[in-house]
Amino acid sequence: MQKQTLTILGATGSIGISTLRVLAEHPGRYRVHALTAQRNDALLLQQCRAFTPRYAVLSEAQAAARLRAALAAEGLATEVLEGVDALLDVASAPEVDSVMAAIVGGAGLLPTLAAARAGKKVLLANKEALVMAGELFMHAARASGAVVLPIDSEHNAIFQCLPIDAQGRFAQQKGCGFSKLILTASGGPFREQAHAALAEVTPEQACAHPNWVMGRKISVDSATLVNKGLELIEACHLFAVPPAKVEVLIHPQSIVHSLVCYDDGSMLAQLGNPDMRTPIAYALAWPERMTSGVAPLDLTQAANLQFQPPDLVRFPGLRLGREAMQAGGAAPLIYNAANEIAVAAFLAGQVGFLRIPAIIATVLEQAALPAPRSLEDVLRCDAEARALAQRCLP
Ligand code: NAD
Ligand code: MG
Repeated sequence: MQKQTLTILGATGSIGISTLRVLAEHPGRYRVHALTAQRNDALLLQQCRAFTPRYAVLSEAQAAARLRAALAAEGLATEVLEGVDALLDVASAPEVDSVMAAIVGGAGLLPTLAAARAGKKVLLANKEALVMAGELFMHAARASGAVVLPIDSEHNAIFQCLPIDAQGRFAQQKGCGFSKLILTASGGPFREQAHAALAEVTPEQACAHPNWVMGRKISVDSATLVNKGLELIEACHLFAVPPAKVEVLIHPQSIVHSLVCYDDGSMLAQLGNPDMRTPIAYALAWPERMTSGVAPLDLTQAANLQFQPPDLVRFPGLRLGREAMQAGGAAPLIYNAANEIAVAAFLAGQVGFLRIPAIIATVLEQAALPAPRSLEDVLRCDAEARALAQRCLP
């Protein structure tokens, strides 16, 4: 295989770190063009030593200055850039083949879209970008010839179980026999908690996911099941299916990562240990396969696999996500924006856990925003929805 050149957006996060661990398994196969982070210059320095990228990008100027000084002191050639324009540049540079889009939240939209517009192989972890601007994003990818490969474990599983063409798209021709997708969800740390007890949970409890180690925002999303609402919307865009064809099942063991159902009664599933290095390695090597460092699943040791429908009363965050996708227009964007504000407030100790879905519901009701038709519309609606959500905070 030809050496590939890669940019990792969000290199210091959970997905970024797992991506670099996979690269370390394959010395000589990938060249790192750029590593980016918001403010963690100390970790980015270590990553620059190990992977010698051409560029390191930090969003915060002070962190960039510290990294610049540290790299110069060690005689390392990596050039330090700062700000959003630099993110767009390293996501779309002509010498880059693949972009790992692993910034969390709406902050990832512009650089991820830049990669799609530039025709890159986009390894998409940043689900919020797709929820905010799904049609625009998928249209940009089609227009430029960009291949979008899902990193989210559920969507990666589905991608592996669907007939996919050379452009990485679901070849949904007549007669392919597709009937529906089933997204699995672990249920998060509060799967069995009584509703009343949820009011008191702390950010630390919400971030202690039973099966996956992830960034704080997605950990809270998993605890509210908003993550599954975002993923339902993500699946509709990635595979061009309506929300009615996407079902969600709680599967506490996180071994079956998702399933595709066919008309003849067949269900195809992808199974594996819950470790993001598997979908990351799959997407990096696609259409080939390569080792990820993850041990194969021992089915004789795998616990009894359970599946049950989600409880939409205790976890209205998922119901709201489905309703937002059914409503269409600006609703998915509003759902995401309100959630980002509510989760940040919860993590800062400003509001309780149950306020997260309550704030989303309020903003969805209040925001009378037109369907966004352009990137400018998306950014304007997003800002308005965030402002409405801010007004729900104490
Ligand atoms: P994280 O919080 O661990 O890391 C986020 C990364 O984004 C960091 O490198 C951070 O520096 C960077 N970042 C944050 N805000 C930024 C900003 N304003 N500007 C520029 N950079 C910024 O998050 P994560 O858990 O790695 O998740 C990343 C994305 O992947 C999210 O969209 C998440 O939903 C998705 N995802 C994560 C997992 C997982 O296992 N962690 C699984 C599936 C999908
Ligand atoms: Mg997921």
